Amino acid sequence: MTDKKLIYLDNNATTAVAPEVFEAMRPYFCEQYGNPGSIHAFGGSIMSKIEHAREQVAALIGADRKDRHGKFTEVIFTSCGTESDNTAINSALRACPKKKKVIMSAVEHPAVFTLGKDLEKRGYPVSYVPVDSSGCLDMERYEEMVDTETAIVSIMWANNETGNIYPVEKCAEIAHRYGALFHTDAVQAIGKLPCNMADSQIDMLSLSGHKLHAPKGVGALYVRRGIRFRPNQIGGHQERGRRAGTENVASIIALGKAAELALHSIKEENTRIKMLRDRLETGLCANIPKAKILGDIENRLPNTTLVGFEAIEGESILMMMDRLGICASSGSACTTGSLEPSHVLRAMGVPYTIAHGAIRFSLSIYNTQEEIDFVIQEMPAIIAWLRNMSPFWKK
Ligand code: PLP
Repeated sequence: MTDKKLIYLDNNATTAVAPEVFEAMRPYFCEQYGNPGSIHAFGGSIMSKIEHAREQVAALIGADRKDRHGKFTEVIFTSCGTESDNTAINSALRACPKKKKVIMSAVEHPAVFTLGKDLEKRGYPVSYVPVDSSGCLDMERYEEMVDTETAIVSIMWANNETGNIYPVEKCAEIAHRYGALFHTDAVQAIGKLPCNMADSQIDMLSLSGHKLHAPKGVGALYVRRGIRFRPNQIGGHQERGRRAGTENVASIIALGKAAELALHSIKEENTRIKMLRDRLETGLCANIPKAKILGDIENRLPNTTLVGFEAIEGESILMMMDRLGICASSGSACTTGSLEPSHVLRAMGVPYTIAHGAIRFSLSIYNTQEEIDFVIQEMPAIIAWLRNMSPFWKK
C-alpha cells in the first residue's frame, strides 16, 4: 500500500466496520469470551447480549412480534447472507417435500442463483423470471410461472450490481395466492431502504452484516412466526435449534450495533448519499462521451450506480482507477475474475461492448463530496486513454 488516499466506492462488495461497532464487539474477544450456552454466569450472561442484538436487528427490519417470553424469535443469526439465502430456500423444500418447484429472478446474486442451478441438477424444477433491458422484472411472466406446485419464490429486494429495487411485496402477494412461501434476499436493501416486516407479506428475509458496517462472517435470517422451518445446520440447540453451532458472539453483538446505527442513517442514505451518487452520475455523463447509466434509473438503491463505458474493458478501467486509489467494481465483486459479463447484464441483454466496460460505484455514509469530485475529475482521462487504444471505439 502507498500513502495515497483511498477513495472507497465499492460498498456493495463490503463496507468498513463502523468505529462504534468495533468498540461494541471488542470486549467479546479477550474479556467476555464465555460460551453463551454455559451454566456459569461468566458465559451464560452473554446470552442476554445476544438477545439484545436480536432486538436491535428486529427493530431495523420492523419485526415486532415476540414470543411468550418476550423474545424476538423471528430473527435467526447466521454466518452470512449466503447462509441465510440457502437456509431459507432449503427449508421451504424440506418443510413441504410434496412441492418441488422453485422460482427466482434471473438476476439473483450467486448466493441464490447458483443454488438454483444446483437444485436443477438435483431434479428440482427451477424457473427464472426474466427482466427487461433496464433489469425490471417481467411480472406477467412471473404470474404465469407461479402455481400450486411452487414451494418457494425467492426474489431479491435490491440488486447488488444495478441497485434496482424489486416489487417484493407484490411478488409475495402473488406467491401466497398459490400457497407458495416467499423469501427475499435483502442483503443490499437492509440499511439503505426502510423495512417493516410487521406490515409485510414476506415470509423470510436474508441480511448480511458486512454490507451495513458490521464485520464479515455474520448475517441473519428473518422467519415469520408460524412459518414451517427446517434448519440447514444440525447439531446443538443454539438459536432455539434453528441454527446449530456456538454463536459468533462478538460479530452478533456487532451486527446488533450496526443495525441500531443503520436505523438512524437511512435518512442520510436517502438524502446525502443519493445526492452524491447523482452528482457522480451527472459529472461522468457530462464529461465522458457515451457513458450510459444501466438499470432502472427511477427505482434504485440511493448509493449505487452502474455506468457502462462503451468499447473498453472494465478490468482495465478498474486497474487505472486503482492506481489513483479509487476502488470500484466491474459488475458484482463476486463475479470478477471472469471476463464474461455478469449473468445480470446478460439477462438484461446489455450489448457486450457496453457490458464489458460496466463499472459499479457504490457509496456509503463515509464518502465525501471531495472524493466524488476527484473521481469526476479523473475518470474522463482514464476512459479517453483506454478508448484511444481500443479497436472497437467509434466516436
Ligand atoms: N446477496 C446479495 C444481494 C449480495 O450482494 C451478497 C454479497 O455481495 C450476498 C447475497 C452474499 O452475502 P454474504 O457475502 O454475506 O454471503
